[in-house]
Amino acid sequence: TVATDPLSSCAAGNEPADTSLVGSEVPVPLVTGERVDYANFDYAASAPCLSTVQEALHAALPYYASVHRGAGFHSQLSTRAYERARLSAAEFVDARDNDTVLFVRGTTDALNLLARAVPDGCSVVVFSTEHHANLLPWQHRGSRVGHLSQLPLPSDPQEAVAAARAALRAAPEGPRLLCVTAASNVTGEVWPVEELADVAHAEGARIVVDAAQLVPHCAFSLAETGADYVAFSGHKLYAPFGSGVLAGRTDWLRAADPYLAGGGATRLVSEDGVRWNDLPARHEAGTPNLLGAVALGTACDTLRAAGQDRLHEREQELLTRLREGIATVGKVHDLGLWHRNHPRVGIVSFVVDGLPSDLVGAALAAEYGIGVRDGLFCAHPLTRGLLPDGHGQAVRASLGLGTTPEHVDRLVAALSELADHGP
Ligand code: PLP
Repeated sequence: TVATDPLSSCAAGNEPADTSLVGSEVPVPLVTGERVDYANFDYAASAPCLSTVQEALHAALPYYASVHRGAGFHSQLSTRAYERARLSAAEFVDARDNDTVLFVRGTTDALNLLARAVPDGCSVVVFSTEHHANLLPWQHRGSRVGHLSQLPLPSDPQEAVAAARAALRAAPEGPRLLCVTAASNVTGEVWPVEELADVAHAEGARIVVDAAQLVPHCAFSLAETGADYVAFSGHKLYAPFGSGVLAGRTDWLRAADPYLAGGGATRLVSEDGVRWNDLPARHEAGTPNLLGAVALGTACDTLRAAGQDRLHEREQELLTRLREGIATVGKVHDLGLWHRNHPRVGIVSFVVDGLPSDLVGAALAAEYGIGVRDGLFCAHPLTRGLLPDGHGQAVRASLGLGTTPEHVDRLVAALSELADHGP
């Protein structure tokens, strides 16, 4: 037995997070750089590290070792921390009892894994609105997808539901999978996941939800939505170190060949062949990313303990402030696929009349200390579909735990100046 457990206080699932700052300006402490006046509006790309995550990593660093590799002291500690983090991730997405939780490198990795694990010849339905991570794996030659329907941008949520139903119905007999985002990384618009899950199931299909941009802003439940699979990334959830999760139903994943072949995924290798491990080790070959798992699990615990509904409410106030502010600046156009009042998470993409987006991004950084993202946001069909005449690129401002009303007002004032006078 292990007498002392130095990882016990860092590993996910152990310590209640410090929620004492909830309600003050910045609700959950973050690790930020030296430049205190920097207004970060680029949370959707990667969110800064939570201070609880930093502490957990600090505690884990002296002890990290390969997990599930024998009875060595460090290996035992690491295994315990890794498996606790898995539980934290399972709780975070409200996984059902028999769901599996796989640690992967991120959402892209999770969806590529699933594309290789679906039954051979599976029919897949996906919207062109998706981030490339939920578009390209289904087209990839390495996937087991047989038939792919890529649906055009739906003009409202009901059209999305109807189009999904029709495409699933028209797909060839056999296993079928609907792939949707929970919240768009371009517009922040929230997709009707529950309704889409009902439609998928009514058509005898399954649904995978890309929750990379939803879970940093609000809670997601596999049990309540009925979604079959969910994927998300640690680095967008205030947890660095290249970790992510694919969680959901076991049967397809259990029946599939391991995503990667190598140590850890095997039970026994002999001259007669390989006996592969069961889930989750089956799809986690190689030395697992313990620090990534600890970071992700701690972030899951911290956000849950801080109250995701309260964090969401606070962010919605800031989002409204930003969108109302932008609306007062005549030459700035907030991009959206659906009705202006459709629910969104804290993401706003926009264009400024007469100004290229990279110039706007550079001027905001250099002249106002504001960090945004410019480009097509790895969602080319959607972003181009939203742009006036389909040309150019856009600017994206995304909100997070460190965003304050002062940041929002600064961004609106800066946009107003840039729109009127240029950089
Ligand atoms: N899905 C969405 C909606 C995203 O916004 C992103 C990243 O921007 C991804 C998937 C891919 O995530 P990762 O790069 O962590 O694999």
